[in-house]
Amino acid sequence: MSSIQKAFKVTLIPTHNQEVLINKIIGCARYVYNRFLALKKELYASEGKTLNYNACSQQLTILKKEIEWLKEVDKFALQNSLKNLETAYKNFFADFKKIKGKKGVGFPKFKKKHGCKQSYKTNLTNGNIQVIENRLKLPKLGWIKFHQSQDITGKLVNVTVTRTPRGKYIASILCEIEIEKYPQVTQNIGLDLGLKSYLTTSNGETVENPKYYRTLHRKLQKAHKKLSRSVKGSSNRVKAKIKLARTNDRITNLRDDFLHKLSTRLIKESSIICIEDLRVANMVKNRKLALSISDASWTKFVTMLEYKAFWHDRIVQKVGTFYPSSQTCNSCKSINPLVKDLKLREWSCPSCGNYNLRDVNASLNILSEGLRILTAAVGAPDAIYACGELVSPGAIPAEIVEAGITPLLVV
Ligand SMILES: [Zn+2]
Repeated sequence: MSSIQKAFKVTLIPTHNQEVLINKIIGCARYVYNRFLALKKELYASEGKTLNYNACSQQLTILKKEIEWLKEVDKFALQNSLKNLETAYKNFFADFKKIKGKKGVGFPKFKKKHGCKQSYKTNLTNGNIQVIENRLKLPKLGWIKFHQSQDITGKLVNVTVTRTPRGKYIASILCEIEIEKYPQVTQNIGLDLGLKSYLTTSNGETVENPKYYRTLHRKLQKAHKKLSRSVKGSSNRVKAKIKLARTNDRITNLRDDFLHKLSTRLIKESSIICIEDLRVANMVKNRKLALSISDASWTKFVTMLEYKAFWHDRIVQKVGTFYPSSQTCNSCKSINPLVKDLKLREWSCPSCGNYNLRDVNASLNILSEGLRILTAAVGAPDAIYACGELVSPGAIPAEIVEAGITPLLVV
């Protein structure tokens, strides 16, 4: 057994008054975020100083005495705004150091009123949050009904309330739960994320992209077109917006379902999973990437693999910078530059004569390179899972923690 944090997402059914108050809390949380971002920027520009979370929190207490309407809303939502701001700064600096500021997490931005993510987070203290059957109690809002699709179990930690672009209200209820770990297995696997198919494993298995991808993507393009052609302020524009949001929702739901099933199966079956570092993979492949969906889904997929690996004592090892996984023959390790041509799907190695299927060969190379890195870092890979302890150098990615793309892990 191990203790993990899991988020349960439910659709809220607020009354009119509750809806008004939720919007008010979201607005205040955004106001606090933006006000303190401005303050931090100003202070840095004029005196070269910064304000940490505690200093901001003290300032907030003073601000609440001045601004009456800040007192009317959930105080945890405001505090969490300051925490988010602090995290945004930390992520920016951590990333900046790591990759020398070339790309990656940008400097914290002001939150817009009509940005895509409108939300606030509130924490549990003294029973201010409760769930009884299909009702959720939240600070200031009282009891709100929700559509129940699954049982909410475990110890409550916090709740994030989000307003979607379609005007729906979603609560992500984070709970601490006990899970039973999957039995230990001995198979190690390498994955090659593809363009034609979703991925190919070092066992020679090909996982195809779900069929609905193409159809829905076409629908998505159509919806985009319709929206851009519609007249601003017209009722057709409103309809087009709703249509687009609906299509986006459907894609996200179907994709998440596909990714959850796939990542769970791979985690169940394998002890060590080796995978390309996506930053590198994207740089190489993106030029020809037609479906931007694949891009986002890879990141999500790797995130899922990573947290599920932590839950079940598995290891996800990333294979890094410009390792020529496609061009290297997995049998004799010589490099065949002809394979740079993406159309070459299979080839015989000029050095050893080994017959290689492009994607399977790549995944075999990713596996052996991943195991090599792990072995160098922590000794023989056998020892890693034999003792049942996780010694992978990989940590929970910052974006999981920051964006609240829970479940998070508690070790
Ligand atoms: Zn060879």
